[in-house]
Amino acid sequence: MPSVLLLNADARPLSYLPLSTISWQNAVKYMFADKIHVVENYEDRVLRSANLTIPMPSVVMLHTYQKQPNLARYSRRNVYIRDDYQCQYCGNDFHYDELTLDHVIPKSKGGKLGWTNTVAACGPCNVKKGSNIIQPINKPYRPTWHQINNSRKHYPYTIPDAKWQDYINWPEDQLKVVS
Ligand SMILES: [Zn+2]
Repeated sequence: MPSVLLLNADARPLSYLPLSTISWQNAVKYMFADKIHVVENYEDRVLRSANLTIPMPSVVMLHTYQKQPNLARYSRRNVYIRDDYQCQYCGNDFHYDELTLDHVIPKSKGGKLGWTNTVAACGPCNVKKGSNIIQPINKPYRPTWHQINNSRKHYPYTIPDAKWQDYINWPEDQLKVVS
């Protein structure tokens, strides 16, 4: 059975990568606990139990707004996403495994691991740079949660129901519907 998209009370997904989804079993449980309401149902699927037949929910929304973090969590992947998978020294685009996390001010010179001192760099640029200080193309900054989520829209997504498109607001050419 496909999963159910869980929206915050502002009609946006709770998270984008991974997309906030729950199982239909949990969706039913939260419905009866009066925590969520159904926004969309799957066209052609029903849930049957001994005394109940209901359309299978596809998109559900929380009654109560769940506060979102303001700032993005620091991680290697999020740094790459912030830098759009572009090496911040040569400006070329790379895949996740071809990139390294580079300290702008090297560790040996007291540079810290964090948003404002690390950038995406390809292996050769990282080696070439060594312990020198070179200005990256974009000055590293601490992004907000929304900035990271928006940058993720360069990447493809597979969803089980076309109705999700209205809520995840992902670029059409990056979405594939597989039901
Ligand atoms: Zn490079």
